[in-house]
Amino acid sequence: MDQDLDIIIVGAGLGGLAAAIGISKAGHRVTILEQAEQLGEVGAGIQIPPSSSRVLDQWGLLEKVRTIATLPHDFHLRTSNGTIMSTQNIQPFIEKKYGYPYFQVHRAGYHRILLNEAIRIGVNIKLQSTVIRIDFHKPAVTVRGDPDYEITPDLIIGADGLRSSCREALLARPDPPRLTGDLAYRSLVKVSDMKSPLLQELIRKPCTNYWMGPNMHAMCYFIEKNQLCNIVLIIPDDLPEGVNVESASVEEMQRKFDSWDPQLTELLRQVGSTTKWRLQDSVKMEQWSHPANKFVLLGDACHATLPYLAQGAAQAIEDGAVLGALFSKVTPSTARLHLPDILKLYEQLRKDRTAQVVQKSADFRVIFHMEDGPLQKERDRILLYEKPAKGF
Ligand code: FAD
Repeated sequence: MDQDLDIIIVGAGLGGLAAAIGISKAGHRVTILEQAEQLGEVGAGIQIPPSSSRVLDQWGLLEKVRTIATLPHDFHLRTSNGTIMSTQNIQPFIEKKYGYPYFQVHRAGYHRILLNEAIRIGVNIKLQSTVIRIDFHKPAVTVRGDPDYEITPDLIIGADGLRSSCREALLARPDPPRLTGDLAYRSLVKVSDMKSPLLQELIRKPCTNYWMGPNMHAMCYFIEKNQLCNIVLIIPDDLPEGVNVESASVEEMQRKFDSWDPQLTELLRQVGSTTKWRLQDSVKMEQWSHPANKFVLLGDACHATLPYLAQGAAQAIEDGAVLGALFSKVTPSTARLHLPDILKLYEQLRKDRTAQVVQKSADFRVIFHMEDGPLQKERDRILLYEKPAKGF
């Protein structure tokens, strides 16, 4: 008798959970194997563009996310001394234009909403389950244990992030993430600590602010219903070789921006602790699936993106939604037969879009980080007197 497919997803990040929800809602049995002992996300904010909100709405999760979200008024692009070069309205403009809101949330809350939904609809989530080997033909995953054990599903989805061992297995060679030359300081400040008049100005009308300077930029936005201010500062990578995340000196961070806009430096004075994150991406992949048609990648595992358009997780969510939509077009009895077409269509639908986002995100590094000089003057002239840069 024909049965639903058994699908293994490697990784319970935002991308793995999105794929699990999409495919489970399409009627298949999904198990997520996650290496971590506990689930969660890093203590930082994340921006959710309308393309993700649309997916959340289809899954009945939009209102849940709204309960933890901040809807920013405007997006301000500033010079390092604080001069506003361009302003783009976000709320209500984005929602009117695209039909769905632009949210800013705490990652942990966003992850929890997707996780709870996955559990509610019957996704099986196995923690402390590190995948160490993949047989693409059976297909099978080997999970580390005592002894190691094998699971043989109908399809394996590698959603194991930037340092993906699934990607390396597909490529049959080591493929460590690529250095981009930048790192991010990530910090949170309680809005209740933002008491000075300069900071009160920032709170009065919660907006997303970007400050641009040579080889560096800074940004801040509000999350948790305006209870927290999320700060990301990008500087040239100075982490020691082999270190990707490190708790860092707040004083050193403040010094790097001490000649910038007084509003930014005052905000940085409120930071109690901070972490440095090396920013990495990966070389574009020709193929996301294995020719045996029982394995495919998604999210950062196949299209890691610089965070300069705040789109990496959004693309992973879209990957999951597209897989779910494709699986919903076949009945359980025909799904096995159509697996090759589903994987082919998934790659066709997702590759160009994600490649564009990866490229545009890298382009924005150039725009944000221009050295003072003719190009920077031209950038500022366009921002000030013509129209917002394409993409805003
Ligand atoms: P991950 O979140 O990395 O999840 C991978 C999971 O797989 C992890 O849980 C890991 O433990 C597990 N795993 C790994 N190996 C194995 C294994 N062998 N076996 C089992 N489990 C395994 N994106 C946005 O859309 N908006 C933003 O505002 C935004 N801001 C960002 C700011 C910064 C500073 C950075 C660095 C990134 C930002 N991003 C943003 C990008 C976003 O964080 C990532 O694109 C997204 O989290 C990727 O999700 P993922 O599920 O593909 O991978």
